[in-house]
Amino acid sequence: MNLNESTAHELLGLIKEKKTTPEAVHISVKKAIELHDPKVKAYVRVDHDKARPTSRANGKFPIPIAIKDNICIKGREVTCCSRILEGFKPPYNATVIEKILEAEGILIGQANMDEFAFGSSTENSVFGPTRNPWNTKCVPGGSSGGSAAAVAAHEAIWALGSDTGGSIRQPASFCGIVGLKPTYGRVSRYGLIAFASSLDQIGPLTKDVTDNALLLNIIAGHDHRDSTSVNVPVPDYTKSLTKDLKGLKIGIPKEYFIEGLDPEVKFAITAAIELLKKSGVTFKEISLPHTEYAVATYYILATAEASSNLARFDGVQFGQRFQPAAPRKTPIVDMYEETRDRGFGKEAKRRILLGTYSLSSGYYEAYYLRAQKVRTLIKNDFDLAFSELDAILTPTSPTTAFKIGEKSDNPLAMYLSDIYTISANLAGIPAISIPCGFSKDGLPIGLQILAKPFAEEMIFRIAYSYEQSTDWYKRKAPLN
Ligand code: GLN
Repeated sequence: MNLNESTAHELLGLIKEKKTTPEAVHISVKKAIELHDPKVKAYVRVDHDKARPTSRANGKFPIPIAIKDNICIKGREVTCCSRILEGFKPPYNATVIEKILEAEGILIGQANMDEFAFGSSTENSVFGPTRNPWNTKCVPGGSSGGSAAAVAAHEAIWALGSDTGGSIRQPASFCGIVGLKPTYGRVSRYGLIAFASSLDQIGPLTKDVTDNALLLNIIAGHDHRDSTSVNVPVPDYTKSLTKDLKGLKIGIPKEYFIEGLDPEVKFAITAAIELLKKSGVTFKEISLPHTEYAVATYYILATAEASSNLARFDGVQFGQRFQPAAPRKTPIVDMYEETRDRGFGKEAKRRILLGTYSLSSGYYEAYYLRAQKVRTLIKNDFDLAFSELDAILTPTSPTTAFKIGEKSDNPLAMYLSDIYTISANLAGIPAISIPCGFSKDGLPIGLQILAKPFAEEMIFRIAYSYEQSTDWYKRKAPLN
């Protein structure tokens, strides 16, 4: 097997036994990028010179990793795949980058994404879409589609993404890999360019559950520079990778198995439930009664926060500045207007308008404030469920990957593809997507496992046990 097709834990073993070197691993990833990325377009920037492995110290992780283009790397351009940020080079590293550099991880490049993480298909990128390695006519999911495709195409061993409403889990599901949205506050957001600050979390995208636990070990932890990061100890997540699930109770929310759920996805989830029963898990049908309001609540809160976070991009401090050809109003107003008009894409403008509207006087109480209250009801549903359950199991997405262009003119259809992932962000709880089957067209299907805040160990335990009794995660994308 080629080195780039291995997992990090396999590679670390080979390096330790002196059967390979970090340089050889890096070269094999570099070759895969040269070979496949002209088609897949997972990356928007690669920089092999800056990425060279430097040391061979034991206990370090010289693993090539792709970084979503909204996480700041000091001195390297970061754009959120938006025209407005072209040329912006942050003067500091995000905390997760500091941690990866400390672990001697290898930053090979920046992965494509929907502009400012607005989307579910990576089609909203100023650089054009990424293609799904399982079928290049299909989207890889989004917004972390570049990160997921890079790992699935073996153009990276690991990747980091961000998840505001499903942007790690849904592309992981579409690309047949493992993606975790940690508990809100588990991983520092310092240096993550904000979309919706009360929902955003950075998380790992990997080829298997063991790698996911390894990468979370590296990036998790309290950070005084992010006041919403939480000061609870970081366990060694690899310790939770045991196959024993005896006595666990998992809930199946009936609201997630309704119209719109693809029968092939439903079949795969049902089969996963049967398999887990054999490991000693008891299942219970439950109700999360406010589920039907999740999408509406999310799109009010997320757009409100986005409109406020994006106000800073006005041509003054960051990235691009544009002036109209002929003066219209005053030079400063002309500059603001022209910069934001030419700098932002269609979806970003749509969200700024929606968000500004729901925050404006007279509408704030009717929309924003009400959505905040519904958010609490959604969180309460989960609190109640977890008072008697260890985890909840659902599909990650109602469908497998759709065709490029299929939903790009229909924002509402696109928004509905996050129907199963959004609630975890509203409630702040951790959730993972792991491979659990394939459609008859050969597209991956994802299984979502959710648990109470800071119960990532429980998620890993269930995910690992399931993974080890299947071989879905071992299949390789055909790249055609
Ligand atoms: N698809 C959702 C949206 O467009 C979620 C995006 C995300 O998690 N960043 O808002």
